Amino acid sequence: DYSTPTARNYELQRNQIQLNDIIGLGQFGDVYVGQCQILRSANKKDSANVREDIIPVAIKTCKVDADLKTSEKFLEEAYVMQKFEHPHIIRLIGICSDSPIWIVMELARLGELRAYLKENISKLKLGTLLLYSYQLSTALSYLESKKFVHRDIAARNVLVSSPTCIKLADFGLSRWVEDQSYYTSSKGLLPIKWMAPESINFRRFTTASDAWMFAVCTWEILMYGVKPFQGIKNSEVIGKLENGERLALPPNCPPRLYSLMSQCWSYEPAKRPDFKNIKEIMKEILLEEKVS
Ligand code: ADP
Repeated sequence: DYSTPTARNYELQRNQIQLNDIIGLGQFGDVYVGQCQILRSANKKDSANVREDIIPVAIKTCKVDADLKTSEKFLEEAYVMQKFEHPHIIRLIGICSDSPIWIVMELARLGELRAYLKENISKLKLGTLLLYSYQLSTALSYLESKKFVHRDIAARNVLVSSPTCIKLADFGLSRWVEDQSYYTSSKGLLPIKWMAPESINFRRFTTASDAWMFAVCTWEILMYGVKPFQGIKNSEVIGKLENGERLALPPNCPPRLYSLMSQCWSYEPAKRPDFKNIKEIMKEILLEEKVS
């Protein structure tokens, strides 16, 4: 008898889950596509009337030889994800917390955004790219309202559910804003080319530094998956930013959008718009593109 994740006891029994093919490699182990069997009661009070559902899922696995510290770190992402419920954030389905540890998530069928943009470059219209960026801004506005900073907003962490729906994933670096603990990994692993100057210089991550990263990610989307600052060394990025250099205007980018991105790239964090504002402006930009 399986418990549904409604009471939000997220523990799943392993026999509810079927692993199929490997679809990716995570920092901690392989990621599989598979199926998960869950029981849903049609009505909360009507426990007799339960229905069995089989849903497609992505399963992140942690290598079996991982030590306690590593497995705790792996599970941290799941603990963060369980706090969120948003149409543009990958949802946690549940976990198997004893070894081998599995994190079971909603599947984004079309995979990584960067690869999707590159493969569909000739099919994707500007309106669709703007829609993705708008959807991302709604997810980040939601996180802002929950006082969460993501700290790793980049196209590589955005997944595609359908041609008109993207979802933010990878909460491995995210933190509650008042938790000042740093990402303990070596400096080399930080996403320098996406980071705000204060994050590079002082490891300071706030909603304002998320706004900076959002604009870099929007630039990647408008560039169909080109990474920022290609051919430039990580160590050279901060000097360029301090000289006032910024990522160039992507082809076909509406001037109003580049103006918003440039505001998000204000050196001074306080001068950047918040996500409530960014979301509203993105919506207007999207509607302008639709009518033109
Ligand atoms: P890590 O953060 O541990 O490096 P990722 O979250 O980047 O792992 O996952 C590795 C890869 O697995 C992703 O790049 C993507 O290709 C795939 N993946 C992860 N989660 C999902 C998901 N929910 N739906 C579809 N593919 C996923």
